[in-house]
Amino acid sequence: MAQKYYLPFSNNKKISLYNLAYIDPFTELGNYYYFCKEGNKFIQKNTAPKYILILDIEKFRAFNSYYGHDKGRELIIQLAKRLVKILKDYNNIICSFTNDIFAILIETNDRINIIADNLFGSLRHIEVNGEIYNIYPIIGIYKIKNDENILLAIDKAMTAHDEIIGDYNKKYNMYSEETEKVILEEQQIETIMEEALENGEFKVFYQPKVDLKTNKVISCEALVRWFREGKFISPNRFIPLFEKNRFIIKLDKYIFKKACEDIQYINKLLKEKDCLKNYNHKNPHNQSFTYNSFITASINISKEHFAYDNFIQEYYDIVKQTNVPRELIELEITESASVYKGIDLKQITKDMKQKGFTIALDDFGTGYSSLNMLQDLSIDVLKIDKSFIDRIGESNLVKYIINMAKDFNIKTVAEGVETKEQIDILKNMGCDMAQGYYYAKPLSREDFVEYLTNRVLQ
Ligand code: C2E
Ligand code: CA
Ligand code: CA
Repeated sequence: MAQKYYLPFSNNKKISLYNLAYIDPFTELGNYYYFCKEGNKFIQKNTAPKYILILDIEKFRAFNSYYGHDKGRELIIQLAKRLVKILKDYNNIICSFTNDIFAILIETNDRINIIADNLFGSLRHIEVNGEIYNIYPIIGIYKIKNDENILLAIDKAMTAHDEIIGDYNKKYNMYSEETEKVILEEQQIETIMEEALENGEFKVFYQPKVDLKTNKVISCEALVRWFREGKFISPNRFIPLFEKNRFIIKLDKYIFKKACEDIQYINKLLKEKDCLKNYNHKNPHNQSFTYNSFITASINISKEHFAYDNFIQEYYDIVKQTNVPRELIELEITESASVYKGIDLKQITKDMKQKGFTIALDDFGTGYSSLNMLQDLSIDVLKIDKSFIDRIGESNLVKYIINMAKDFNIKTVAEGVETKEQIDILKNMGCDMAQGYYYAKPLSREDFVEYLTNRVLQ
């Protein structure tokens, strides 16, 4: 006869093996396994429309570290009780996955958005031991199709949930066909990305940066281009995905190496053509070159690298391998990295500088960093985001940024410059460099060389 085991439970309850396998001991709700097991049965009953909701609390980890784990646990227990109470009139399964994640199956003919609205509102304040805590629930919803597998349904609700993290304009997010299309496309990209890299489908293009005092091209930004079967795939479609799945680490290194080789090649070629003979200026960082060539390149380095301790050394090694003078290479890091996964951008920029790299802070103004932060970071160049340049005539903001940067001895680059008017204003404001379609779109290496040759010889 099968033996029944009982284990003592913290609150003096006895727990069977069944409970141990399927019940969350804190909230006493079903757990993930219970949800999957019972969920499949629930879905198959063909009565009213069914929905799956994934719910958690924004920044729960921060709550835990601020108030302590005991309070965090108590909060989750109270939240579970509240959920059960709010949804008591519906046929439902409410489960507790891990930490603060709850999954809910609900069957209703009512409008789900009203239920979700109500849920959001009722969970904003939770009482724990007589004290009220303000929390921010994140809710993703998926309407289940007939006979759909519970695991797929969880995935979709999870996707809807993940999509609104950080979006405070929405109280919840419904999974949509649009999302499904994006996911499908992402899955397709993921299956071909490695092969695409091996097949050389990723190319590096170069967008000129012009010195606003001399009107000469002194630098360029290396930008990845993906050509698949003759079609161009925009970086905006694959870079965010590659940042999610970390393929960006591999791709960035590949692009970096190619760009180093190209910049070495371009400068050599220009020298041979004697193009730079009368090209007597200082490089963007005000260092006089002993090296007889002047075109520098800035290369994008995703913030995903920052989780790896030795990435700066790896980039340093690539520069050495390719024999390109280090002064010609500038690393572009995004401003948003400053608030990313507890990253110490101050230390990272310091380490990069120590290795002799020039550093540009990209997309300045779009993230959270303040101008004051500039003095803490070891950066050489500030790239003012296109959104500011688009509205340059409307305020003195850009001028303010440029002046502040000057105080810190940081050069400024205006991004996405499209008109002569913008150039004139930027010159007046004392901006150092400009980059944008007004001068040129990102060009293949050959086209860039041709562009340089024409401009230098004009
Ligand atoms: P970003 O680093 O801010 O690069 C500038 C983007 O603005 C480029 O888009 C460029 O083509 C575009 N642009 C430049 N001038 C103008 C203009 O006058 N008007 C308009 N409308 N756009 C202009 P692109 O190449 O599509 O790249 C998009 C983003 O993808 C980049 O933004 C960067 O964040 C990322 N990216 C591109 N290449 C790489 C790479 O090799 N590694 C990493 N990690 N990210 C990359
Ligand atoms: Ca950039
Ligand atoms: Ca940028």
